[in-house]
Amino acid sequence: MADARYDPDNIFAKILRGEIPCHRVYEDAHTLAFMDVMPQGEGHTLVIPKAPARGLLDADPASLAALTASVQRVAQAVKTAFKADGLTVFQFNEPAGGQTVFHLHVHVVPRREGVPLKRHEGGMADNTVLAEHAARIRAVLEGQG
Ligand code: 5GP
Repeated sequence: MADARYDPDNIFAKILRGEIPCHRVYEDAHTLAFMDVMPQGEGHTLVIPKAPARGLLDADPASLAALTASVQRVAQAVKTAFKADGLTVFQFNEPAGGQTVFHLHVHVVPRREGVPLKRHEGGMADNTVLAEHAARIRAVLEGQG
């Protein structure tokens, strides 16, 4: 799989094109952040670049720089919104690395002391709950949280 190509019909590309809905948290010219539908913890958010890339290795460095800035911004808001004790931030590459959606994305999960992460792709969260969580994070980003 080392030379696998970017598939423009992957699910996050469809989200970027507005073909599939998401609970949007943050957007700028180069990046988008939205709630993970199968959260490993309350507030699990994904941050993606708009430029197509399968993973870390084929991403354009300028796109990576924009992604990193957005990850930091979103992570600060997520931590505040969920009054978290800490954050787990992770990113997988290729099936052997645990990747299941092949558009570069960074996971941001708020953590509480003594509460373990749930299983990866454990189960779909309720849409109403995800909408409320996204609104909570947006409120912090907009300075109302
Ligand atoms: P990966 O293993 O590729 O790092 O993780 C992909 C993540 O995308 C998983 O945490 C999974 O729950 C999430 N995911 C898969 N399909 C969708 C979807 O259609 N919408 C959203 N918001 N998240 C998704």
